[in-house]
Amino acid sequence: MTREIICIVCPLGCRMDVELEGTEVTSLQGNQCKKGPKYAQKEVTFPGRVLTTTINTGFPEIPLLPVRSNREVPKDQLMACMGEISRHRVKGKVGIGESIIKDILGLGVDIVACRTIPYAFR
Ligand code: SF4
Repeated sequence: MTREIICIVCPLGCRMDVELEGTEVTSLQGNQCKKGPKYAQKEVTFPGRVLTTTINTGFPEIPLLPVRSNREVPKDQLMACMGEISRHRVKGKVGIGESIIKDILGLGVDIVACRTIPYAFR
């Protein structure tokens, strides 16, 4: 089986033609560095992405807090995570890197703050 995979490790975005036997990469063309094969193997066995989004706050001064996952989320769980995040609201002060949602959906991944909310607004 052949599959085209775009490497997202760096901005070059190499288009790689990947030959597969099951989930094993047997040959690969199109990568411009040795990170390509490693990425391709991971993409066919455990595709995941760091999730970046925003979460609602209760503060009109900062209505949205930018957040990201502290590890990759399996691709097939991204939308479920977005749904879970949309049900949360930040109500107090937050430090950068602080976990806003711990172990989201039992995936072993935390959703962490990407900025500070220095104090609780009224
Ligand atoms: S294969 Fe190497 S050069 Fe190409 S996108 Fe991936 S990391 Fe960048």
